[in-house]
Amino acid sequence: MNMKTLTTDFTVFRRDFPVLQETNRGRPVIYLDSAASAQKPRQVVDAVSNFYFHDYANIHRGIYELSERATRLYEQARDRVKNFIHAAHAEEIVFVRGTTEGINLVAQSFGRPRWQAGDEVILSTMEHHSNIVPWYLLKEQLGIVLKVIPVTDEGAMDIEAYEKLFSPRTRMVAVTHASNVLGTVNPVKEMASIAHAHQVPVLIDGAQAVPHMPVDVQDIDCDFYVFSGHKLYGPTGIGILYGKKALLDAMPPYQGGGDMIETVAFSKVTFAKTPQKFEAGTPDIAGVIGLAAAIDYVQSAGMQQIYSHEQILLQYAEPRLLAVPGLRIIGTTKPKVGVISFVMQDIHPHDIGTVLDHEGIAVRAGHHCAMPLMERFRIPATVRASFGIYNDENDVDALMAALHLAKRLFG
Ligand code: PLP
Repeated sequence: MNMKTLTTDFTVFRRDFPVLQETNRGRPVIYLDSAASAQKPRQVVDAVSNFYFHDYANIHRGIYELSERATRLYEQARDRVKNFIHAAHAEEIVFVRGTTEGINLVAQSFGRPRWQAGDEVILSTMEHHSNIVPWYLLKEQLGIVLKVIPVTDEGAMDIEAYEKLFSPRTRMVAVTHASNVLGTVNPVKEMASIAHAHQVPVLIDGAQAVPHMPVDVQDIDCDFYVFSGHKLYGPTGIGILYGKKALLDAMPPYQGGGDMIETVAFSKVTFAKTPQKFEAGTPDIAGVIGLAAAIDYVQSAGMQQIYSHEQILLQYAEPRLLAVPGLRIIGTTKPKVGVISFVMQDIHPHDIGTVLDHEGIAVRAGHHCAMPLMERFRIPATVRASFGIYNDENDVDALMAALHLAKRLFG
């Protein structure tokens, strides 16, 4: 292994993840599936268990100290998220279940009340299903039109084509910051500026960007930004919707219930202010605490350092993968995050996945919830290896050995 190429000794982070000492099919776990969900460091699990053991109570409504403490931790977490993505105000941070719920919230609360049949939403070919289906539901509910930005053969967003998709009926641009299949990092700042020149708001799906690189929502100048805690080494079931305050203020609630109201009578309900208006019911308080701990954790490494670490692994992996006869990487444009998709001639991705599994290596094989992108590249599936803070060149070496084995078995 050549650790000399790494700027920081990332092995210190590896020790924080007990699961990496476990086995998969009797072999040491090599975890290359962080794009699906990242493993959890001890610090995150400790924060959640400490909260349950020492500070737990329901939030906002309690008139006793424990509840005040839980509320303080919950609201401090909102502040930490705000700082992490460089939002202007803590009120712009809404706790949701994940990226999927954040996008559905915007579609139903921003889009549905104000759009009509024939209005248009611009998406791209490289979207995850969770940034397609919520808009498709609006197409069914309202008769809106989905317009799709093409992707080049290298896996880049076709910006020239994007500019031509705008019309007087365009109501929203919703695109991914980084592709979960190709790894492509899209020029979202430029795309937002083009949309704004047409007075069109922009939603960015940050699920695959936030774990891999620094994100500044004010610099991008997006109107909405969504991501999931579980891909950022945090708990499942918690995520973030960022929205510019004026937009969130103008939107009706997404769900009704406790905690999102000011007053309730059968004749009239008044709602709490942003962001409580969007957080109906008892939220995932422990998830929020765990997400804040995950943010502290990645910030202790530094997002720029994490990005550089994954770039080094990409540079280490790509030439070795391409040296495997018949292997083709899907998505070669740069910049990209630490996600590599590939196919091998005459071996189905699922067969590759099975061989890797038996060697202890966890990767994804499938359509990765991006069926339109598979169709674009005329492939049924890819194998996807994705990197996180705990991966190193040994993991890439193990992947390579297993791919050569697959080649011998099936090729
Ligand atoms: N968007 C992208 C780009 C993703 O990769 C994913 C998850 O794989 C999602 C959205 C959906 O995230 P979640 O299932 O956490 O809501």
